[in-house]
Amino acid sequence: MIGNIHSIETLGTVDGPGIRYIIFTQGCLLRCQFCHNADTWEIGTGKQMTVSEIIDDLKTYLPFIEASGGGITVSGGEPLLQIPFLIALFKECRKLGIHTTIDSSGGCYSTNAHFQEQFEELLEYTDLILMDLKHIDKEKHKKLTGLTNEHILAFARHLSDKNVPVWVRHVLVPGTTDAPADLEQLGKFIGTLKNVKKVEVLPYHKLGVYKWEALGLEYPLKDVEPPSEASVEQAYELLTAEVEYI
Ligand code: SF4
Repeated sequence: MIGNIHSIETLGTVDGPGIRYIIFTQGCLLRCQFCHNADTWEIGTGKQMTVSEIIDDLKTYLPFIEASGGGITVSGGEPLLQIPFLIALFKECRKLGIHTTIDSSGGCYSTNAHFQEQFEELLEYTDLILMDLKHIDKEKHKKLTGLTNEHILAFARHLSDKNVPVWVRHVLVPGTTDAPADLEQLGKFIGTLKNVKKVEVLPYHKLGVYKWEALGLEYPLKDVEPPSEASVEQAYELLTAEVEYI
């Protein structure tokens, strides 16, 4: 089984518990204005890697990963564009007792039978999902990411119904995703979910701007500066006001 891979980071520390072997998959349906991985957008490109190539490489880091309570995280791009590959990869990880995590925006989530059947199988082998909720307002979500958010909210509800543990993540972009009323609404939505282990506010940063420039694209947030610590704290309060953690 082959995956289209953008890159691999062998000892990541922020995308899930412990030390993580992080695979960035190639391809995404969203076009987030703050994306720091714009070079992962194109579908069907990247480096083709087999599951066994990845597992062989991962095994060399296992002592560090296991000692830290870590595991594997598949990020992107959007990992759920390559579900059959993820199933094959996570099955092998299960055999080795490796904790499995997916970092997803749910941007390609669908209720169609084919997607659901594959997704159902993938969840059997998935320990944690880092679920990116970009904006609660449908039109603002479209402006920010290129798509409206109905299917992403459905993705979140589905994971809650199935009791799949999630870390909810929200990128705080001044002037775009930081309006208190929107954060309060998003917090109310998060409060309805029954599977939340953690909520993280990720301060917007400009580290990926050079990738937009390399792709010949104009960066839409070039005048926006990172948020203050106080506004990150305030956002966290609003997002977690109604959460009952698992
Ligand atoms: S979902 Fe992630 S990879 Fe896709 S555009 Fe948004 S930030 Fe970039």
